[in-house]
Parts: sequence; C-alpha cells; structure tokens
Amino acid sequence: MRLEAVKPYQTTRDVLNSRVPLKRRLLDILACPIDKHYPLELLVFEEKDEITEGLLLCPECNRWYPISDEIPQMLPDDLREAKEDLAWLERWKTRVPERVLTQGKPFRLA
Ligand SMILES: [Zn+2]
Repeated sequence: MRLEAVKPYQTTRDVLNSRVPLKRRLLDILACPIDKHYPLELLVFEEKDEITEGLLLCPECNRWYPISDEIPQMLPDDLREAKEDLAWLERWKTRVPERVLTQGKPFRLA
C-alpha cells in the first residue's frame, strides 16, 4: 500500500473547502474573493493555538471578512448574511477600525 503524500494547501478555495482553522502561516495565500487582492490585512481579537476571532480586511476594496471560531468566513457578497455579519461587527466594534465600521463593505454599522 502506498502512502499518499500530504499535499500542502494550494489555494484559498482549498483552505475554505476544508474549513481549516486559520493559522498565521496560511494567511499569505488568502485573497479577497471579489478582486483577488492579497495579502489581506489581519486584525486578531482572540488567539489561542489558532486565531479564534479576528478580521481580515482587503485594502483594495475595503471589504471585511470575519474570522469566527477559527474559521475565516470569506464569502462573496451575495452569499453573506447581513444580519449575522452585522451582529458580529456589533460584538467587536470596539476593536474594529473606524474605517470598517463606517465605510466597510458589504455591510457597515454607521
Ligand atoms: Zn477586495
């Protein structure tokens, strides 16, 4: 029996499909799903072995993506739930930069 080599994660899609917890070393391959810009800016709100809560921000289009329960939620706009995303933003608003709260896409508090 041949042992299959463990493949490194190649793309953002691989990471998302396997729901891999966000390790810092995977960050440099995460790109904005809208404009493919990378690297994204990372803000860490809680970290244990992995980043458990945080924010990924695309400096190109000002879209923000929550990291919740270790999972980066990097969905295109039409698959995002405004209610959930806004609740998350509200929860972390003291840690989220002003430019995201007032001008972030696709949802903002102000
Ligand atoms: Zn973007």
